[in-house]
Amino acid sequence: MTEHARNATPDSVDIAGALAWARARIDLMDARVLLRHVLQCPAARLVAWPEQRLGSEDWASYRDLVERRVAGEPVAYLTGEREFFGREFLVTPAVLIPRPDTELLVELALAHAAGRKGMRVLDMGTGSGALAITLALELDEADVTALDRSREALWVAMANAARLGASVSFVQSDWFSALGDERFDLIVANPPYIAAADPHLEQGDVRFEPPGALAAGPSGLDDLEEIVMRAPSRLENDGWLFLEHGYDQAAAVRGLLADAGFAAIASWKDIAGIERVSGGRWLGRD
Ligand code: GLN
Repeated sequence: MTEHARNATPDSVDIAGALAWARARIDLMDARVLLRHVLQCPAARLVAWPEQRLGSEDWASYRDLVERRVAGEPVAYLTGEREFFGREFLVTPAVLIPRPDTELLVELALAHAAGRKGMRVLDMGTGSGALAITLALELDEADVTALDRSREALWVAMANAARLGASVSFVQSDWFSALGDERFDLIVANPPYIAAADPHLEQGDVRFEPPGALAAGPSGLDDLEEIVMRAPSRLENDGWLFLEHGYDQAAAVRGLLADAGFAAIASWKDIAGIERVSGGRWLGRD
């Protein structure tokens, strides 16, 4: 077969042919995920039944998705979902795609809750709702509030809470601005933390994600600083604050926590061995 013949677009294909066509253009894993999405089938079908023919509509949809992937769109936006902490979340371009790194925040929150019932939890900048919904489902009888400044993000988060059966109160709020005077036992956030001029914002999947969920001022610390400085007025005594941050921001965030008067300040490493979450305990004003 000539190179041209291998890459030509056939009029009709079976599963093996569709994957071969896609593999010449995109990553094999992505090719499989997108085909499963079009056929709405389990992974095993692609392997077990390579000679199954695709209907012409499925083949057209698949070609369209592969071309969009070639143009750079993230797979999660093409399929409309992404797994986080063992559950499928709907995602749209209105929200950041949940990252495996962020599961560290869930694990820390669960470890510090240590079986306590009825905790009041706040997730700031919830996006798809991945953190708030996971905590609502994993903690015992927690009272979880999630806020986001973006109305479009809140629609996605609410749809996820309904689909996954999580009870979460959603509030449209620019950080603490629209909250009442309630206090929380635990505040978590994965805020924007990339420096505005970071070239990484112009590369790969992040180009398609909402800029307001990624960039935070010249050093990337603007939102982290605002949250740390104002969190004490929202935390119960002995409450915890955990924040995800950039790979090189742990020392700066620990400094912010110290300036704000937090105790038991620490940073924790993500699956790649990078200090990714920092936090501390609020012991009260006096
Ligand atoms: N971890 C994301 C990235 O590096 C950024 C997430 C965020 O800004 N909260 O692409």
